[in-house]
Amino acid sequence: MFDALADRLESAWKKLRGQDRISESNVQEALQEVRRALLEADVNLQVVKDFVAEVKTKAQGAEVIAGVRPDQQFIKIVHDELVAVMGESNVPLAEAKTKPTVVLMAGLQGTGKTTATAKLALYLKKENRSTLLVATDVYRPAAIDQLVTLGQQIEVPVFELGKDADPVEIARQGVEKAKAEGFDTVIIDTAGRLQIDQEMMAELARIKQTVQPDETLLVVDAMTGQEAATLTRTFHEQIGVTGAILTKLDGDTRGGAALSVRRVSGQPIKFVGTGEKVDALQPFYPDRMASRILG
Ligand code: GDP
Repeated sequence: MFDALADRLESAWKKLRGQDRISESNVQEALQEVRRALLEADVNLQVVKDFVAEVKTKAQGAEVIAGVRPDQQFIKIVHDELVAVMGESNVPLAEAKTKPTVVLMAGLQGTGKTTATAKLALYLKKENRSTLLVATDVYRPAAIDQLVTLGQQIEVPVFELGKDADPVEIARQGVEKAKAEGFDTVIIDTAGRLQIDQEMMAELARIKQTVQPDETLLVVDAMTGQEAATLTRTFHEQIGVTGAILTKLDGDTRGGAALSVRRVSGQPIKFVGTGEKVDALQPFYPDRMASRILG
């Protein structure tokens, strides 16, 4: 586990010959290595600073464990802290007391939001939970067709009113239909723009206000690295999210966005996307992500 960081820490300690326990002086060098590892994993700079400060406090206060090398002890402290920040365990999708559970998908264009919408429906289908998908992205010509095609592929119905309808109205009617027809879940795909703009946020806020979702999931592209923190902050402040889906983890990113998203929003990452295929969605596990981030 954490081979790359483990190797670096070992060499950091070797330089400090004779130091057989965690102390003020040797911890500095080790913290530098952690800082470097997190920045290489694309964790947001401020998040790295806060994280390193916390690890420092914990490491300096740590009891020396007999027979355990200080570098190993230090790695465990870093690992445990990463897991703690990312939420200890997997947090499943919310389930409303009365059907349907309403899930609102939010995020920028190109992040994999529409794909994640279908992936989530397929994931729920495998758990025998029925889903109605709702297409409200009337701005991007192919967006509705894309969801309809994905729906056909996974054999999950898609509600749409064409591209001339009002997105808020589509969402409202979609939820009504899901309620009337006894679906377990309704997932609303919303418009994403290339950049955050006020109009998009205002529309999303209106949809949210209208359908009162049980979950508002922010879809974040793991490849955006540092940017993930800014994006999450904006969406969380303006809309309020209850969780996130981190996509494109099959890419070569170490996934530092996971730490940033959780830290900035305080909300759990619920799923990760690991490919373009519609079944490439997995629950998020903090301990696995900690290993990946540390490399
Ligand atoms: P949207 O604009 O946010 O709705 O994004 P789309 O769902 O249309 O996805 C944008 C592109 O990202 C498409 O080419 C998807 O196939 C691709 N994509 C989505 N999720 C993943 C993922 O987890 N891994 C990879 N490699 N590609 C993905």
